[in-house]
Amino acid sequence: GAFAKPSLKQVDSVCPFCGVGCQLRYHVDENDRIAHVEGIAGPANEGRLCVKGRFGFDYAHSPERLTRPLVRRAGVAKDPLAVGRRLTPDELRAQFREASWDEALDLAAAGFQRALQATAARGRASPVAGFGSAKGTNEEAYLFQKLVRSAFGTHNVDHCTRLCHASSVAALMEGLGSAVVTNPLRDVAHADFVLLIGANPAQNHPVGATWIKNAVKRGTRLVLADPRRTELARHAWKHLGFQPGSDVALLNALLHVIVAEGLTDPAYIAAHTRDFELIREHVAAFTPEAMAPVCGIDAATLREVARAYATAKNAMILWGMGVSQHTHGTDNARCLIALALVTGQIGRPGTGLHPLRGQNNVQGASDAGLIPMVLPDYARVGDGAARGKAEALWGLPAGTLGSEPGLTVVEIVDAAHRGEITAMLVQGENPAMSDPDATHAREALAGLRHLVVIDIFLTETATLADVVLPATAWPEKTGSVTNTDRCVQLGRKAVGAPGEARADAWITEQLAQRLGLAWRYGVAPDGSGSADATQGIAAVYEEMRALMPSIRGLSWPRLWREGAVTYPVADEADPGQPVVFTDGFPTADGRGRLVPAALTPPAETPDPQFPLVLITGRQLEHWHTGSMTRRATVLDAIEPGPVVSLHPQTAARLGLRAGAAARVASRRGVITLPVRFDDALPADTAFIPFAYREAAANVLTNPALDPVGKIAELKYCAVDVRPEATS
Ligand code: SF4
Repeated sequence: GAFAKPSLKQVDSVCPFCGVGCQLRYHVDENDRIAHVEGIAGPANEGRLCVKGRFGFDYAHSPERLTRPLVRRAGVAKDPLAVGRRLTPDELRAQFREASWDEALDLAAAGFQRALQATAARGRASPVAGFGSAKGTNEEAYLFQKLVRSAFGTHNVDHCTRLCHASSVAALMEGLGSAVVTNPLRDVAHADFVLLIGANPAQNHPVGATWIKNAVKRGTRLVLADPRRTELARHAWKHLGFQPGSDVALLNALLHVIVAEGLTDPAYIAAHTRDFELIREHVAAFTPEAMAPVCGIDAATLREVARAYATAKNAMILWGMGVSQHTHGTDNARCLIALALVTGQIGRPGTGLHPLRGQNNVQGASDAGLIPMVLPDYARVGDGAARGKAEALWGLPAGTLGSEPGLTVVEIVDAAHRGEITAMLVQGENPAMSDPDATHAREALAGLRHLVVIDIFLTETATLADVVLPATAWPEKTGSVTNTDRCVQLGRKAVGAPGEARADAWITEQLAQRLGLAWRYGVAPDGSGSADATQGIAAVYEEMRALMPSIRGLSWPRLWREGAVTYPVADEADPGQPVVFTDGFPTADGRGRLVPAALTPPAETPDPQFPLVLITGRQLEHWHTGSMTRRATVLDAIEPGPVVSLHPQTAARLGLRAGAAARVASRRGVITLPVRFDDALPADTAFIPFAYREAAANVLTNPALDPVGKIAELKYCAVDVRPEATS
């Protein structure tokens, strides 16, 4: 088998899947293919890897890789209803023809120019938008947002952070003046108490989960707050299986106990926070007795957990999408921030706030400015000085960049559906699968006059494209990525790309030049990079660094040498700062702001027609929309198809046996998939992973947005589940 092959070449890099950012070594065989992968001693993993990192690599060698640019044949309609099916070779040929790079790039650029000219003539806002990727490098994200802002004259640029932690980011920016994690994940080793809420790290941050398990073994008290009794419940001091969507009730009850019983840290509150009075008054009504029936956790347990958190020497809070993917996601995160601030459990090792980032580079892509309201390093687009600095560095006439934020992911899709956005550039994202109310999203994408997709596979989104540009997979290029701990790491090219696939950054540079921008980085088409900071991908990094105070002290040569450095890093001698906010916050007055959170129900609640709650999420073996992991042989063999998980008693009541086909319907759509029993789920709740095109969970989900973070309620909607009628 693969393990017996001698490896001719060994290349150290970073895992392409989750935000833990494990370092790994690619072993490359004589055919320039990855033979196997081993974990190496990176700061986040110390040699550990999970099943995705260890076995999820051969997607890069899949026969389904795109190897030549594709152009939609004239007159061939886009069918949003066919998106769930993989195209047969004949169907593919009927829709697309192969093209040279020159022709495909010319066509891609011309479509955007047409769209821009049409609206300029009518004096309207830019009709173009771009979705970049949290799966690419920092340099790719930086170039992508620069292209959209410079060439398309708009801040309509976003990426999957909007569907992930946008609400956490909104609350952290408001409360602490910065959205970064305060402490690295491995700080759980220094925590006496860990509150893990709305996250399932055993599946989604598996190596991170091992650090949590190790900490528990050494005596850390773990409280898992999650409607699902997920794997870490076995290691927890307490599992709070609260009612889905009742986070604010649960957390405000904890705050109530801490305030009412005098367990706050008055010295910390006085020195480092403001608006404590607002919180004190607000949580007075949230007694554990009043909240117990709302959240489903008894009052005595709420008191015990609140006391344990507040009185621990060091207590840390970790959270995931169970907190953020709600219409009250920002409120959920406000409560977590308040818990840390009123108790002073922040600013020391083993304390603080850590929103577990999902994608391997969602932190870095956000830092690089792939967000509609901010430029690199979170400089607000409304800040004239920041815009001026970017314009000068990018060689744009003063006043080119607008002061109004652009549209976010779901807003862009809605605008496309209304015909206001007519052209889109999508790099490495798959909105036809990842966006809420996927049927609506697919209609919007199909209705675009011009859709250009840069990707490694013909994703569900790419099937609706006019031009498809084949890109490099992670092991085929060099660049930097930033993990959930704010650690910038170097990914190194290990193998060549198939056919004519080219580096994403090269593609972006080529498009920029065709759209009239004088970009001269000279990015290598084969994705290679070198220690020389003056050219190619390194020159992109150095330009980005000039706009980003957080990495000022991390030059490309230093990154090349050291491989991993945690920002903020002020100068070349600065080792980096794993724990931040040790003495106040980067807000205008240096204080953390306490913001009360009201109790609001989910946007759609169960009723007789749709009586169950649907929770969507990931699985250990499959990553997001499955475009990579479902083409990784080992991972696909372990989890080959979609399932809807139900508590056995709920399934029995609905007349469903394990393995039987269930029809799951919401107000937005219907899918059919087999039932799996899972007694870790609460009653009357269904869980469906969103990785499967043949039964796409997002056909069902609710696009209602959190009003602040603009994140959709992917963790809660009402569904009906019943046996699929057999005819
Ligand atoms: Fe990759 Fe995350 Fe698994 Fe580490 S924990 S090997 S980064 S998927």
